[in-house]
Amino acid sequence: MKVEEPLIFEKSKPGKIGILIEEEEDSFLQEIDPTLLREEIKGFPELSEPEVIRHFHRLARMNWAVTLGIYPLGSCTMKYNPVLNEEVAGLRGFLELHPEQDMEDIQGILEIYWRLEQLLLQLTGMDAATLLPAAGAHGELTAIMMVKKFFAEKGENREFVLIQDSAHGTNPASASIAGFKTREIKSTRSGMLDVAALEKVMDEKVALMMMTVPNTLGIFETQIVEIAEIVHSKGGFVYCDGANFNSFVAKILPSRMGIDLMHVNLHKTFSTPHGGGGPGAGPVLVKKELEPFLPIPRIVKEDGKFKVSCDFPLSIGRIKSFFGQTAVIVRALAYILSMGGEGLKRVAEVCVLNANYIRRMLEEFFYLPYKSDSLHEVVFSDKFQREKGVTAMDIAKRLLDYGVHSPTVFFPLIVKGALMIEPTETESKEELDRFIEAMRKIAQEIEENPEVVKTAPHSTPVKRCDEVLAARRLKVRWE
Ligand SMILES: *Cc1c(COP(=O)(O)O)cnc(C)c1O
Repeated sequence: MKVEEPLIFEKSKPGKIGILIEEEEDSFLQEIDPTLLREEIKGFPELSEPEVIRHFHRLARMNWAVTLGIYPLGSCTMKYNPVLNEEVAGLRGFLELHPEQDMEDIQGILEIYWRLEQLLLQLTGMDAATLLPAAGAHGELTAIMMVKKFFAEKGENREFVLIQDSAHGTNPASASIAGFKTREIKSTRSGMLDVAALEKVMDEKVALMMMTVPNTLGIFETQIVEIAEIVHSKGGFVYCDGANFNSFVAKILPSRMGIDLMHVNLHKTFSTPHGGGGPGAGPVLVKKELEPFLPIPRIVKEDGKFKVSCDFPLSIGRIKSFFGQTAVIVRALAYILSMGGEGLKRVAEVCVLNANYIRRMLEEFFYLPYKSDSLHEVVFSDKFQREKGVTAMDIAKRLLDYGVHSPTVFFPLIVKGALMIEPTETESKEELDRFIEAMRKIAQEIEENPEVVKTAPHSTPVKRCDEVLAARRLKVRWE
């Protein structure tokens, strides 16, 4: 069924209201300074309560959601988030906290920050943490600023950050915002970092090598220890973009792979629903050497009490107001505690199993540009289908007609026409089969009648959007 839903402003009729305010109850208005009261809000939509509720419910039904089915966006880890975590984060005590409350009165939440830090340190093997960054990219920036300050303190002038050609776009962006120049390192035919190329460019001008583990092709860098040795031999640091930590959480300690600092995405691995730019958190974990540079404020435990301290003279300073994304932090702690160590191991095992099941079931139908073993995601390309004039974007759009969210397309950039599929550990075999079936049917349609795929989607309320125009001429306000 196709639903035409006008904007709420277009549905407005002057004089309609949602609630009745009795005259005598109006008296509270008398207590407000009249200069602060508005007679009218220009363009304010006027509707009844059921009209408002129905409007938003109809819009919500046009959306895809992880509560409807698989959401296999590679790199994004769109997994199902247990309701338990929502219930805990929604407890009144958390909702009504104020960051300027007396430390004595907020010991509970300070302990939650502290306990999550301790658990993340245990899971990564690192020495010190900050929960402040509001996203993965923000964690990258925070970490790179710490490295910059570290070398500034030592009086060393290091200008470069090394980045894999398969890296997430946030890596070079963060390095550049922190004031570094970037040097790109190519991947080999096996989809791993070219160690010989690294040896050539690694010198005393390089501050940091940024590695994504597993990389964005879903491949584990088997030479990571050797890579770390090369970087360390010239005095540089090794950074791990751990946004996709779910693929090896509780299985391997990043600290033992030679990693000096890293971020993890609470909103991917540790179960916060995300999308549309938030909410999230990108805690940064570091080795001892870098601890003095962590941002402030930090949570410290003294004589059994928790407090917030800004007394760290070498800190890079503040990167965020107050203490971080509290609800995301509470959800992450609830998730880790409810899963336990064995549960987290299963997370890593099942997300890898699911990705490999999809790989095996689709590799006859779609081209697999890198054949190395897959971890939590698998990257195909549209190479076979392009012969019929069909691209990864067309396939993504056609999937919507089958009631399936599309995978990530056209990323990583080193794969032409990439289809990057990450099923996550929360999908059942039945749901994976539904996705596989849709992909196989589309491959068949492309053989028999490519037009139907090229003109997809046919069943959604909105057809293809002009994504470039939407980004270039952003218009978020109705006039
Ligand atoms: C998601 C992701 C990021 C960025 O995280 P945000 O929270 O979106 O800023 C960085 N690197 C990789 C590999 C990612 O998957």
